[in-house]
Order: sequence, then structure tokens, then C-alpha cells
Amino acid sequence: MAQANTLHDAFIDELRDVYNAEHQLVKALPKMAKAASTRELRAAFNAHLKETKGQIKRLEEAFESLEERPRGKHCEGMAGIIKEGESVMKDGFERQAMDAALIASAQRVEHYELAAYGSLVAWAKAMGHTKAARLLQQNLNEEGKADKKLTSLATRGVNINRRAAEIAHDDEDE
Ligand code: FE
Ligand code: ZN
Ligand code: FE
Repeated sequence: MAQANTLHDAFIDELRDVYNAEHQLVKALPKMAKAASTRELRAAFNAHLKETKGQIKRLEEAFESLEERPRGKHCEGMAGIIKEGESVMKDGFERQAMDAALIASAQRVEHYELAAYGSLVAWAKAMGHTKAARLLQQNLNEEGKADKKLTSLATRGVNINRRAAEIAHDDEDE
């Protein structure tokens, strides 16, 4: 009988999964930036694109620290989230609604990544892969910041919508 896979095998497998997921994002983020209506959201997507490329470099370092060749394995989860995001872009929302929908898609991506890196960091620490743990923690922190940034943009967008609705109502009342 073949030997059962260890936590280390699972760890390498998940590392390949997230490595592929980050590559999928490098392709998706420019499309999301292009679809964004506000300069702030476009800037946020472009900034995260740059960060994502850095995350890929860190993952390569993590592979090397484990004496593994950096290699991806198709991440079906990220593919699905990106596919949903693409259908949002095809829906032809008005500007504010499009940005709100893009932010919602992007936050799904960030939460997915947070979950992946959260487990990877815990596993790396548990197995004493100190260098990999440090690199993965840096990616985890960046995803956390990206998520918070999106929340603040979403909150601001909602407030703008509310003000616009109030002004429209005031006009009606006159
Ligand atoms: Fe990422
Ligand atoms: Zn995945
Ligand atoms: Fe991210």
C-alpha cells in the first residue's frame, strides 16, 4: 500500500494552489481596474496588482526555503471567484453600483486568500518551517490590509449613494 500523505505534503500542495491563485489574480486585477469607475478604486486595484506580484516572489522564496521548485496547481476556488467577478463586469451596472459590485467581488478574493494563508502560516509554524512561515505571514498581512482598504472604499461609496439619494428626495419634496 502507498504511504499516506503527511501534513508536509498537504502544505506543499496548498502552496502550489495559492501560487497558482496569485497568478490568476495578476491576470484578473488589470481587468477589474479597467472596469472601476472611481480613480480611488482603480488605484487600489493597481496597487494590489503590484503587491500580488511581490507575493508571488515571496512564495517562490518559500518554495526555495523548502527545497521545492516553485510550481502551481490549478486553483479551482480562485477560478470560480474570478469567473463570478467577470460576470459582474458584463452586467452593465451604473457607475456607483459597478464599483460596489467590483468591491464585493474583490473582497471575496481577499477573504479566500486570507483563509489560505492563515492555514499555511499555522502549518509552517507547526512544522518548524520558520522562513516559509515568515514569508507567508507577510502575504497574509498584505491581504488583510487590502481587505480593509476595500471595506473603507465600500463604506465611502455607500455614504455617497446615501447622500445622493437624500439630495434627490429633498428635490422631490420641494
Ligand atoms: Fe494575494
Ligand atoms: Zn485554491
Ligand atoms: Fe490579495
